[in-house]
Amino acid sequence: MLNPVIFFSIDGMRPDGLTAAKTPCIDRLIANGSWSLSARTVMPSVTLPCHTSMHRGVDVPRHGITTNTFQPLARPVPSLFDVAKANQLTTGMFFNWGELRDLMAPDSPSIVYLHNDPSYAESDWIIARSAADHIRRIDFDLVFVYLGYTDIAGHDHGWMSEPYIDAISNADACVSHVLSAYAERGIEPNVLVVSDHGGHGRSHGTEMDEDMTIPWVLAGPSIVPRQELKTPIRIFDTCPTLASLAGLPLAKEWEGKVISEAFISSKV
Ligand SMILES: [Zn+2]
Repeated sequence: MLNPVIFFSIDGMRPDGLTAAKTPCIDRLIANGSWSLSARTVMPSVTLPCHTSMHRGVDVPRHGITTNTFQPLARPVPSLFDVAKANQLTTGMFFNWGELRDLMAPDSPSIVYLHNDPSYAESDWIIARSAADHIRRIDFDLVFVYLGYTDIAGHDHGWMSEPYIDAISNADACVSHVLSAYAERGIEPNVLVVSDHGGHGRSHGTEMDEDMTIPWVLAGPSIVPRQELKTPIRIFDTCPTLASLAGLPLAKEWEGKVISEAFISSKV
């Protein structure tokens, strides 16, 4: 039996924001896992285009989502959750920004929980508590948790401002809360923490390093511990890498690569 997979997207979390914030949970994942603080997102460095690349394994020119308004894909690309559904996995998606509903076909996740307002810190806790409650009751193979308040704090107060750094610390506590639900059951998941983009001033969307550079932290029983990854990582590598960890076949449409440098090969 494979270890379950869970991944967290902390919206707009810059690597140096992660370093500056008090994040004991993610620090522990870094200490016990394989990580990069110089992974790259896609252009435009905007939430829906970046998450579409994260979940569908292709760059923006292939999926064609260039704004936060979804357009049906001219040439469809199966998402991680679509492939999981086709292979009868039990999956959950917990998120607080409604536009992410189009990351997959509407019936692909087994459980969907949306609280459609990321504009306050407690909103991330509503998502974390729901994810934890479901993880206590359901044997998920794959879970996605999206925490959106960090990005709102960046837009309202500025990237690297004190409220933004505090929002990252808040998100770290949310990640810890969700992971504690597995620990209570004696389950060891493989965990990825990633962001969709960074930010500068009070916005993002450009090709500046501050907007394009994201953390990518993978840890768990199948992952090489205490290793800074040498492989250059793009956000669309997330989809095939997590599919591989979940025992799923790779869709031929996916352009991303499996970051196998992170794997203890005998366990995947
Ligand atoms: Zn975003």
